[in-house]
Amino acid sequence: MKRKHKCFALFSGGLDSMLTVKYMEKLGYEVLPIFFSTPFFNPQKAQIAADRIDVNLIIHDVSKEYLEMIKKPRYGFGKNMNPCIDCHGLMFRIAGELMEEYSVDFIISGEVMGQRPMSQRKDALNSVAKLSNIKDLLVRPLSQKLLTDTLPIREGWVNKKEMLDIQGRGRYRQIELAAQLGIKEFENPGGGCLLTDVGYSRKVKDIYENNMFNMEFIKFLTAGRHFRISPEIKLIVGKDNNDNDRIAEQIDKEIVMLCNDFPGPLGVIQGIRKPTDEEVKTCAAILLRYCRKAPESSRVKYGFNHNLINLISCDKMNEEEVKKFQIN
Ligand code: SF4
Repeated sequence: MKRKHKCFALFSGGLDSMLTVKYMEKLGYEVLPIFFSTPFFNPQKAQIAADRIDVNLIIHDVSKEYLEMIKKPRYGFGKNMNPCIDCHGLMFRIAGELMEEYSVDFIISGEVMGQRPMSQRKDALNSVAKLSNIKDLLVRPLSQKLLTDTLPIREGWVNKKEMLDIQGRGRYRQIELAAQLGIKEFENPGGGCLLTDVGYSRKVKDIYENNMFNMEFIKFLTAGRHFRISPEIKLIVGKDNNDNDRIAEQIDKEIVMLCNDFPGPLGVIQGIRKPTDEEVKTCAAILLRYCRKAPESSRVKYGFNHNLINLISCDKMNEEEVKKFQIN
């Protein structure tokens, strides 16, 4: 019997990637689903989806390459801070580099032509292929009938007639295919990538524009209210107890602040230099705004590594003034 070829499937955990894997498996291919984890997209959702369709997921961390790419994406950003074309291009490229190690012959993805405004138009699909340097090894089973033939099709490893011609934003054909393939549980499209979230993207843009775009600053972006105090200094204030805990887990060499005389939120001052006394005072005044029980004037303690040896007295900042500093 003729050997069926082996492929990587770029796997996000969305329905399209689940369909792609199951569809190709049904045709007899050996499919290795692979998820590329970044600081903005963790593997949780993909792992749940992989478990649901009973496949082993390979998780490969590409954070370092991703942070380099996002500093200057060739095809720019989408609606928010999502550099989708470059992101797909990067993932294809790295998948290409891993092919030998896993003995795979080609790569498949669940991209559907015309489904997403930015990353999945025909020209965008071509840009992805161009960026990845493995243009000729890509197959998109859900739309491949509509796309230019690549090596696996020309060589007959993949039968084009068996590929599909799904296009556009509708989900009807995917839902129908899911039923045929026995996929009962799946998430709604989207979700998972923090860079598509408006509020999160605002915080990313802020550190991006203020030369703070590295893990030291990124690690705090999923929790708290964020304030821009000056181009070099920012403040994070916990929204509730859970938030305070999440922020506390990330503290390393930052300055920590707490209301001295009343229970209140956790504050963290971050910067690319030491804050001035004036900046510390501004941070304390903002922190007090979120300390409900504190009177209009109160005291805030602060210091490094939870060693809160300094004390400052100041007035609560008023709502209007706080808004001028708020990022999200
Ligand atoms: S949504 Fe996020 S993970 Fe998906 S392609 Fe865009 S940037 Fe990459």
